[in-house]
Amino acid sequence: MIKHLFFDLDNTLWDHRKNAKLTLTDLFKREAIEETYGVKFEEFYQEYYTVNENLWAKIREGSIDKAYLRTHRFLDTFRAFEIEDAKLAASFENQFLDEILYYNELVPGAFDLLEYLTAKGYEMHILSNGFEEVTARKCELSGIKSYFKTITSADEIEIRKPDPKIFQWAFDKSQATPESSIYIGDDWIADIEGALGFGMRAIYFDVFEDRYTAPGVEVVRSLEEIHSLL
Ligand SMILES: [Mg+2]
Repeated sequence: MIKHLFFDLDNTLWDHRKNAKLTLTDLFKREAIEETYGVKFEEFYQEYYTVNENLWAKIREGSIDKAYLRTHRFLDTFRAFEIEDAKLAASFENQFLDEILYYNELVPGAFDLLEYLTAKGYEMHILSNGFEEVTARKCELSGIKSYFKTITSADEIEIRKPDPKIFQWAFDKSQATPESSIYIGDDWIADIEGALGFGMRAIYFDVFEDRYTAPGVEVVRSLEEIHSLL
């Protein structure tokens, strides 16, 4: 009997990719990067995207910390265009984190899904690997906070999904049990392997059609498809 639903936040409910791109479009223009360095936004954004994904993978493995990521994601992006400017990179990082919260696009179907699941009586929770200083504000500013009984950022104890300790931390807060819970997320390692390792079932939101599968995992390509599973 499933009673609790644990959601990942970024790119599962809160459209981080879209909001990041909108924020960077503003910043790039304001800082006149194309005019000054002759770099096109799309090239810059593609580079940033790859650098950021790789750094987050290293955070999950535990080989770097959050401070390293925050120093390096724009520094390394600019370096790819032979722009060596730590001050510019730091200024991008600070403005980016502040301003991304001006954008609050949700993944298509997020509100409908949360309404549907609330009406069905599930207790819902957020367990995010995102920074503590922004997780709750993202939920609040995008208007989804009231759907959740608990909101947990892995940053609170500096242990990230897929480590079972962060699942235990979130479960202690929510008084849920793995057997009565399902995890829903878009990252195969952090979310799905994390949930399975903690003894939970999982729903994998396979946005990019990566086609990973495992026993105990349902796969969806859109949030709408979750209506028929719960
Ligand atoms: Mg995610």
